[in-house]
Amino acid sequence: MSIYLDYNSSAPIDERVLDVMVDVYKNIIGNADSRTHDYGEGARKIVEHARKQVASILKINKDEVIFTSGATESNNIALQGLKEYAYSTNKKHIITTSIEHKAVLETAKALQKQGFEVDYVSPDLSGRISVEDIMSKVREDTLLVSVMHVNNETGIIQPVYEIGEALQDREVLFHVDATQSFGKLVEELQKIQYNMLSMSAHKLGGPQGIGALILRKQKYKFPPVKAIMYGGQQEHGIRPGTLPVALIAGLGKACEIAEEEYKDNNRRCQAIKDKMKSMLEESGLTYKYNGLQEYAFPTTVNVCFCGVSSEALMLSSKEFCSISNGAACNSKSYNTSYVLLAMGIPEDQIESSVRISWGYDTEMVEFEKSFKNLLESARRLVW
Ligand code: PMP
Repeated sequence: MSIYLDYNSSAPIDERVLDVMVDVYKNIIGNADSRTHDYGEGARKIVEHARKQVASILKINKDEVIFTSGATESNNIALQGLKEYAYSTNKKHIITTSIEHKAVLETAKALQKQGFEVDYVSPDLSGRISVEDIMSKVREDTLLVSVMHVNNETGIIQPVYEIGEALQDREVLFHVDATQSFGKLVEELQKIQYNMLSMSAHKLGGPQGIGALILRKQKYKFPPVKAIMYGGQQEHGIRPGTLPVALIAGLGKACEIAEEEYKDNNRRCQAIKDKMKSMLEESGLTYKYNGLQEYAFPTTVNVCFCGVSSEALMLSSKEFCSISNGAACNSKSYNTSYVLLAMGIPEDQIESSVRISWGYDTEMVEFEKSFKNLLESARRLVW
């Protein structure tokens, strides 16, 4: 088996999370919205306990947590759910970035077809968006600014704290896609002044298929988002559908573990990164980091092995490590990374670039062994 180094696509589930979920699947039956019997009440207790666990890591109120199927859905609700408000106030201008996940970019494009105007701000070679570039686009009719916290391809941390501050005296909603940072940049997330925030459990040791949209109340009122599908009053009517109790319990447990362990986890991840950097330095290969490392997250490296085809490198290293050259949702066929292109990286450099991402449970010894093999493969492939 090869070592798994594609955590940004999906991280393995934590065994403690799995135990909680199995227990719920075995012992809790019923619909959390059934009022008429104890089974419903039992399921509701599990859901509300998990809601508290999610709220606790963000230091928010538990009624500000809306369970969804994951960040794709959360991003869709955050953008599409504002349509009615936008039409009624005639605020139809959105600012986002060209390096967002497709769940934001494609939703923004769909809104453009429905009469919205969207400005896409690009980063420079550092991979980081400038606060000034975002703020210079704000207009009277700006409805929303949507910027991700950590980019999934480069691991570059975006200045969402500063953007949130700058937007304080403007009547503009602020959405943060925190899918990659949730449970990791814990203290920073507690300070950011956002109205809406998206996350997915499977990036932090929770199960796939569950996530949340956080809606911060201002003066006791939610941001003006509406449901984008119909069929029930669950989750304040914003996300109808039967709540998946075991998945929600798993998300809650993953948040509880992350809140207790994130400092140690981040240290462990940084140690892997430091090891990787020193091995790269000693490798004799010509390489370049994509994105300024001063802003990079401790779990991700996007690196160009100059003169090496990334496709060939992934194929030749498949047996001992699983890496990628872009986001999983774009990787069915090879497409030049739109994130790296937006940063202004030349195409030949992009074609030689791979993303390596790991987590707190990545074993140092195993990592060192497989990264050494990867470097040897790269050496053989240089043309
Ligand atoms: N936003 C970002 C930044 C992501 O990395 C991902 C997952 N790759 C998503 C949104 C979508 O998450 P999910 O597929 O769990 O809905």
